Amino acid sequence: MTTSTQSPVTLVTGGAGFLGSHLCDRLLAEGHRVAAMDNLITGNLENIAHLRSRTDFQFIHHDVTTFIDWSGELDYIFHFASPASPIDYLELPIQTLKVGALGTHNALGLAKTKGARLLLASTSEVYGDPLVHPQVESYWGNVNPIGPRGVYDEAKRFAEALVMAYHRYHGVDTRIIRIFNTYGPRMRPKDGRIVPAFCCQALKGDPMTVFGDGSQTRSFCYVSDLVEGILRLMMSEESDPVNIGNPRELSVMDFAIKIKELTGTTSTIVHQPLPVDDPKVRQPNIDRARALLDWEPAMPLEDGLKRTIDYFATLIQKGVV
Ligand code: NAD
Repeated sequence: MTTSTQSPVTLVTGGAGFLGSHLCDRLLAEGHRVAAMDNLITGNLENIAHLRSRTDFQFIHHDVTTFIDWSGELDYIFHFASPASPIDYLELPIQTLKVGALGTHNALGLAKTKGARLLLASTSEVYGDPLVHPQVESYWGNVNPIGPRGVYDEAKRFAEALVMAYHRYHGVDTRIIRIFNTYGPRMRPKDGRIVPAFCCQALKGDPMTVFGDGSQTRSFCYVSDLVEGILRLMMSEESDPVNIGNPRELSVMDFAIKIKELTGTTSTIVHQPLPVDDPKVRQPNIDRARALLDWEPAMPLEDGLKRTIDYFATLIQKGVV
C-alpha cells in the first residue's frame, strides 16, 4: 500500500460503465490517480468524457479477459468489468462468463504481482431466486446454472470463489461487495432494467411494461450511496462478502406507479410475460454493512428517482432516446 502522503494509484476495470464511471469521479475527488480500463462492450466514453483532460486520470482501452499489462505501482483495483443488465448478458453469454472467470483471474494476477488490494463487484444475483428473504451473506443461493441467466450468476459465483482462493492461497488482500439493484444517471436508456425502462416510457408517454403481474419485488439503491459503500468496504479490513443495497422493498407494480406519479405521465401500464428465472423477491439484509462499515443508504427513493428522471429527460430532449 502507498503511504498516506502519496496519491494512491487505482485501477477501475469497467470504468466507462454506469457504476465504474461514478466510482472514478469519487476516487478522483478523494485524491486517487485513476485509470479506467474498459473494452466498451457495454460502456460508453460519454460517461467519462468530463474526466479525459485531467492529468490524474487515464483511459485504457483493453479487454481484461486478456493479460493486463501494467508498469509502475498500483495500490487498488476495483474490478467492475462485466456486462450487468439481463439484456446485455443474454446477448453476450460467452463474454459474460469469460470476464467473470478470465477477467477476474487477470485482475487477481495483477493484484498479486503489484501487492494491490482488489475489490470484486459481485452481485445479489449470486442468491439466484432466493429461498431466504431478505438475503443475508451467509445464504448460498438458489441459482439455475443452465438457465439463460446462469451465465451471469455463475460467472459471479466463480469470480467470488476465485477471489477467495487468491486470498487464502496467495494471501492477496481482497474484498467482495454483493451489489443489489442500483440506479441513477448514466444508466443506458435501453439496457432493459426497470428504472431506465419505466423512466423513458413514462417521459415519452409510451405504455409502461410490467413483467408478470408486477408483484415481484425489487429494492433500489441510489448510485452515490452505493459508491460510498464501495469505498468504505475497500478501506475496511473485511475480506468476506458484504451486501450493499437499499433494503426499502417495493413491488414492481408500485414502482411503476411511483414513476408515473413523479413524471406526471399519462402512460398506461401493460403486462408482458415474466422472463425465465426472474427472481420473485429481492431485498438486501445490510446488517453486516451497518456493523462493519457503519454504512446505510441516505438518499430517499423519491429524490434519487427525480435526479434519474431529470437525466433521462435531458437525453430525450437531446434526441438520444
Ligand atoms: P455497465 O455495463 O454499465 O458497466 C460494465 C462495464 O464493463 C462496461 O463499461 C463494459 O464495457 C465493461 N466491460 C465488460 N466486459 C469487459 C471486458 N472483458 N474488459 C473490459 N471491460 C469490460 O454495468 P454496471 O451496472 O456499471 O455494472 C458494473 C459492475 O457492477 C458489473 O460487474 C456488475 O456485475 C456489477 N453490478 C451492478 C449492479 C447494478 O445494479 N448496476 C448490480 C449488481 C452488480
